[in-house]
Amino acid sequence: MFLKAGNIIKRLEDHGFEAYFVGGSIRDYLLNRPIGDIDIATSALPNDVINLFEKTVPVGLQHGTVVVIQDGESYEVTTFRKEEDYLDYRRPSLVKFVSSLKEDLMRRDFTMNAIAMNRTGKIIDLFEGQKAIEEKSIQTVGEADERFNEDALRMMRALRFQSQLTFQIETRTHQAITKHAALLQHVSVERITVEFEKLIKGKSCHQAIQSLVATGLDIYLPNLEEKKEKLLKWPELSYSSLQTRSELWALVCLLLEVRDTFTFLQPWKLPTKVMKETAVIVDGVKEIQSIGWKPFSLYENGKEVSILIERVNSIILGNSIPDHVQNVKRQFDMLPISSRTELVISGRDIIEWGKKNPGPWVAKTLHEIEKEIVNGKLENKQEHIKEWLLQCNRL
Ligand code: ATP
Ligand code: MG
Repeated sequence: MFLKAGNIIKRLEDHGFEAYFVGGSIRDYLLNRPIGDIDIATSALPNDVINLFEKTVPVGLQHGTVVVIQDGESYEVTTFRKEEDYLDYRRPSLVKFVSSLKEDLMRRDFTMNAIAMNRTGKIIDLFEGQKAIEEKSIQTVGEADERFNEDALRMMRALRFQSQLTFQIETRTHQAITKHAALLQHVSVERITVEFEKLIKGKSCHQAIQSLVATGLDIYLPNLEEKKEKLLKWPELSYSSLQTRSELWALVCLLLEVRDTFTFLQPWKLPTKVMKETAVIVDGVKEIQSIGWKPFSLYENGKEVSILIERVNSIILGNSIPDHVQNVKRQFDMLPISSRTELVISGRDIIEWGKKNPGPWVAKTLHEIEKEIVNGKLENKQEHIKEWLLQCNRL
């Protein structure tokens, strides 16, 4: 990974600039974890970067970030910067480019995230980040009180790293979060949601949720103020197998026994599509938990959604996901029909047979026919369906 990106650093160095790997990729490399995105910090200004590389995307010029694309991979190259004028406990309104790596590392959130590495693999660790990684400890670069006052989102980040990495939050950092929890109110909910989702998916989600309550951050998360007891009972499950956002939120709603899915989700500002799918999964899981899979629920939900429902239910019950999903697929494939398009008749046929005017009765009748067929009580054949309709006085 770093070898490939080394070319980018070399090119910058060949033109007289400094450049280093920084941030999460170095942390994950030292931890032997799979590396996500590779970030590079450089003394070159965004325009220099754009001029030096063939394929670039200016994703955040005002923050000094240019994405360099090389061999189909993208790398975020950001000019050394420090952040000034933190207003209202949010990200800074002004970004100032600086010439030293040290200043750039100083503005980073936690010591484990403030380690740099040069092209030859030499580690530059000005804040004892390696020691923190060895001790599995999350601590701010500099005074915790000050750092959370600058940007309150860092408190949520501390907990999501605790969840992802199974680290502990160092005492002073923990105390500062408890003291400043209320500052989270000033952070945009979209940024909070991103961190919360990562927290839920983390390996040590259970511990991080305990910290959420212990620090009082839970009070400032949408609709969680009434959920303390449920949060404290958050089970130790294998949440990392969650695949989609709707699965994740369905699990949250089910574990917290949320009364109305939409009302709960609305303030988290999720896309409508995610909210709708979440509500369907929640209802589906509740149904199979009370009556099990019925052919008609499989049919109505469709194969894809039925699988999502089964996955979430399996996570909650600690069941083997592949086995249970396979089983649902098999049951689905055994249905006489898998969607309305497979019905041999249409609404028009029913209207013609009944010699009646179209109206809501047509859809209702079709629905009943589908139910009979899916439940194996009626064959999907024109003459059988017509006969059944006559028998039940539907025509
Ligand atoms: P991930 O593996 O989840 O991407 P990451 O540590 O790379 O984790 P990013 O959000 O990608 O996290 O941020 C990249 C780096 O930028 C961090 O490692 C940290 O050095 C710095 N950083 C990110 N957000 C903040 C913040 N709110 N305050 C200070 N530094 C930050
Ligand atoms: Mg990252």
